[in-house]
Amino acid sequence: MIYNFSAGPAVLPKDVLKKAQTELTDFNNSGMSVMEMSHRSNIYLHIHEEAKTLLKELMAIPDSYDVLFLQGGASLQFTMVPLNLNTHESIGFIDTGIWSQKAIQEAKRLNRDISIIASSQEQNYQTIPTEFHLPDRKLDYIHLTTNNTIEGTAFKTIPSFKDTRLVADMSSNILSNNYQVTDFDLIYAGAQKNMGPAGVTVVILKKDLLKKNPTLPPMLSYEAQAKSDSLYNTPPTFSIYMMSLVLKWLKELGGVEKMLQYNQEKAEILYNYLDNSNLFSSLVNDSSRSLMNVPFTTGNQELDAEFITLATRKGLLNLKGYRTVGGMRASLYNAMPKDGVIALVELLQSFEKERGN
Ligand code: PMP
Repeated sequence: MIYNFSAGPAVLPKDVLKKAQTELTDFNNSGMSVMEMSHRSNIYLHIHEEAKTLLKELMAIPDSYDVLFLQGGASLQFTMVPLNLNTHESIGFIDTGIWSQKAIQEAKRLNRDISIIASSQEQNYQTIPTEFHLPDRKLDYIHLTTNNTIEGTAFKTIPSFKDTRLVADMSSNILSNNYQVTDFDLIYAGAQKNMGPAGVTVVILKKDLLKKNPTLPPMLSYEAQAKSDSLYNTPPTFSIYMMSLVLKWLKELGGVEKMLQYNQEKAEILYNYLDNSNLFSSLVNDSSRSLMNVPFTTGNQELDAEFITLATRKGLLNLKGYRTVGGMRASLYNAMPKDGVIALVELLQSFEKERGN
């Protein structure tokens, strides 16, 4: 038995993979694979629309928002968001880690005016800021990263900035919690953690943000992408199909609220163990802990490496921490079963018994 704790691309629900397997060479009696279909065919368009409808339903996305399926990963959104939304003023950033920093870097590359309204850099990114310093000048929008995949922190509640638009990189915790779409003006997320395989990036945005801009290449324009229903060019059809299967799976499980409960139970098992262990400890402040990514360490690089080797041998895979953080990181995305977390804690316990003092 293998458990995959990868930070992304990440574990997918086994039932989804099996379903895709049964449909791989012959989808819905078409005689062909989804991979072989024209993106303009009715049979594919049905998949496309179904994925959109399911996402709208699961996230309670109102009709005043559009849903786009784009390519280029969340990384391209670091560029597309400022290109489309930052027309006159400054951009506010909440800096909570490496992925926020990347978003900042890309806005700077476009010569945008940047205001860092809060940062937890001095706390080694082990907390989520709760105080924000808004500049005197106007902001086009504020950007935050709801879940920090590398540092293992997450916003429990979303700050409100009244009249200023809010943009979120939700790549690593979309569909895992009870965030309200209406608290945001734009949300983006790569699929490869909670929604499916890599290749498709979801953008959810308020329709009033869709402005025609003839100087923007259509591939980089939300308005052009929305107008063509994300079919301006060939979309990543198979990734969108896989996403529709994951969304169906989530709906059958009871939706996002149910998933949140399950994720809380899973994370609690691991954090409880870490908080009571004499060998391993969590790196993150209690109030800022992510349910999705849990970095932890013994504080001793050699012991950490020894644990990772043992875990790999036991089928608990991809537990090595990100290089700037070190130690271990267990990613507990939606598709990670509770049994995986229990197996991890049992191995931590037996390692502690043997190697701890
Ligand atoms: N933002 C966050 C929070 C991420 O975790 C990642 C990927 N690990 C990215 C952005 C970049 O995503 P992509 O690889 O899809 O460009």
